Amino acid sequence: MYFGVILVYFYGMKKILLISILFLSCICFAQQTDYVDFKSVEADVKIRYFDDKVSGFLKVEFDIIKDIDSIFVDAKDMRLRFESLWKEKKERVFPKFEYSEEQNKNFIVHDFKKGETFLLFFYYAANPKKALYFVQKNGEKQIWTQGQGKYTSNWLPSLDDTNDKIEFDLKITYHKDYEVVSNGKLVNKIEKDSTITWHYNMQNPMPSYLVALAIGKYDKITDTSKSGIPLEYYYYPEDSLKVEPTYRYSNQMFDFLEEEIGFPYPWQNYKQVPVHDFLYAGMENTSCTIFSDAYMVDEIGFNDKNYVNVNAHELAHQWFGNLVTATSGEHHWLQEGFATYYALLAERDIFGDDYYYFDLYENAVNLGRQDLAGDGTSLLNPKSSSLTFYQRGAWVLHALRSKVGDEVFKKAVKSYLEKHQYANVETSDFISEVERFYGRSLSSFVNLWIKAERFPVEEAITMLQNQSTRINEYLMVDCEANSSKCANYLKYYVSDEAKIKVISQRPELVTNDTFKHGLKVRQAISQYITNVPERLKEDYESLLDDPSYITIENALYNLWSSFPTDRAKYLSKTRNIIGFNDMNVKLLWIVLNLNTPFYQADNKQALFEELVSYTDEAYNADLRMNAFRYLNLMSACNEKCKSNLENAKTHHNWRMVKYAKGLSEKLKEKKD
Ligand SMILES: [Zn+2]
Repeated sequence: MYFGVILVYFYGMKKILLISILFLSCICFAQQTDYVDFKSVEADVKIRYFDDKVSGFLKVEFDIIKDIDSIFVDAKDMRLRFESLWKEKKERVFPKFEYSEEQNKNFIVHDFKKGETFLLFFYYAANPKKALYFVQKNGEKQIWTQGQGKYTSNWLPSLDDTNDKIEFDLKITYHKDYEVVSNGKLVNKIEKDSTITWHYNMQNPMPSYLVALAIGKYDKITDTSKSGIPLEYYYYPEDSLKVEPTYRYSNQMFDFLEEEIGFPYPWQNYKQVPVHDFLYAGMENTSCTIFSDAYMVDEIGFNDKNYVNVNAHELAHQWFGNLVTATSGEHHWLQEGFATYYALLAERDIFGDDYYYFDLYENAVNLGRQDLAGDGTSLLNPKSSSLTFYQRGAWVLHALRSKVGDEVFKKAVKSYLEKHQYANVETSDFISEVERFYGRSLSSFVNLWIKAERFPVEEAITMLQNQSTRINEYLMVDCEANSSKCANYLKYYVSDEAKIKVISQRPELVTNDTFKHGLKVRQAISQYITNVPERLKEDYESLLDDPSYITIENALYNLWSSFPTDRAKYLSKTRNIIGFNDMNVKLLWIVLNLNTPFYQADNKQALFEELVSYTDEAYNADLRMNAFRYLNLMSACNEKCKSNLENAKTHHNWRMVKYAKGLSEKLKEKKD
């Protein structure tokens, strides 16, 4: 997942309720995985178009590893009707088994014996409140899942424990006008009346949290990797112009990661599907990554906020997380740290070494700050921050590879994946592989980089200084103190990062010549020079033509406030620019227009109503938050805005809810 909260649950088998009825011989508090191995789930799931009700029929196969008197499946707030239980696939046990439900676990009580294989058949019906989301996108239904942290067992009976890997084959029936995307390979589509049943098949097992479903109005582009894996890129029909910038480098990154990791991509195909108001940036469901449609960007948006990093991160999880899965939260970095590191390697392949080292540098600085604030934790602490799991995890791999060398590192990773494929892993499983090829103990490395609470920031920065001349130069450039060299830095060949550092420290050194540098340096000018001096006016105005929605937004505001008599000119020039998903440029334009009384090209009342209308639930959460923010700034949140704010508190997206509640409080305080 990119950016999320991971919950880790441990439980013993809770059968206390059953004891009094059935006189069970023991109370067992071991993991169910010690007794039962769930092999496969064949699920026939129907989702009703008109009322979003979910129902289905499941065939579950499992092996008994040790004698046990009951087994369970997780099914939250569902109604289950058990149909039959078969031993060795041929002997019907029913009705000689009992079942019961306790705390969302559905127990099958039977005298299960070691070595036996069973088939269990049952119906279920659910009204999911989590994990399966029903949203509106342009007046059309869209349905999608988020299993990690929220659990698949809210819409599909399965196992919350990530340590039992199951081969899932899903049949999904839905309205025939919609596309249905799920894990694995599409075997067939069967149309009947107003519905289509989509049959997806998987060949290998995975934990239940990776089961995925995305239903909506989609087109797709198909391609094939160098190694022959089918690739599918989904998009909304109206977004055809955004497909190329959004999915740019996808094929290159796929081929790169397969080669770099050294273990062939482990699933039948790879699909990527954007969804509306997603909870996170992306989620690595096996062979079916779901990501936020805020990453569907055009040519210009690509320069500011593209999908490349999230794309690579979720792809890397197909190995690290999906093929090998951490046994518990203690080893979560084996998923997020690896995904972050391999995404960075894929980006290095595209954007070059400087990009790679500056990313590591920035993360080292942030990790150092986290320690200073007293929030640092060991990488093995399951309560660590995302910064620790993701960025420190990636740093560990960079440091380790720097220590043991490319060859040892790559051999160890490959061997680690081969040994533990389709199984679960702990930190020692990985480290012992590296030690085996390295031929020496890594215990002091592990103590310093992994176990210690404090991130070794000095060691990290020194390492970067030895590895990158650009980082050295960046550290040398310092204009906090008045140095005569600083004006020269803006002229000569120091990196863009170093120039940006100078601009942030000494914006008054910017001259007309500074505008001749690239996009990022010009963006820094728009960010750090907010009061535009007359001498820079003409060059500053050229920022309004930059292919960056961030630069345009900054420049429009700064020019508008610095040169009041030219406001009409700036508004006319930027009238048709929209910006990102949250319409950053368009909303600013409306607000500035409303605050420019002499500019009479538009009906101000209609513009104001347009701004208020963007708070409506018909729009995406980012746009709504942006509109609420401006209306609040102008103290103009009217009745309509307030009622939309109230409504936003029940949104499925936690960021929207948090924002709406916070603003609502503020408005109340203001009123008082
Ligand atoms: Zn992730």
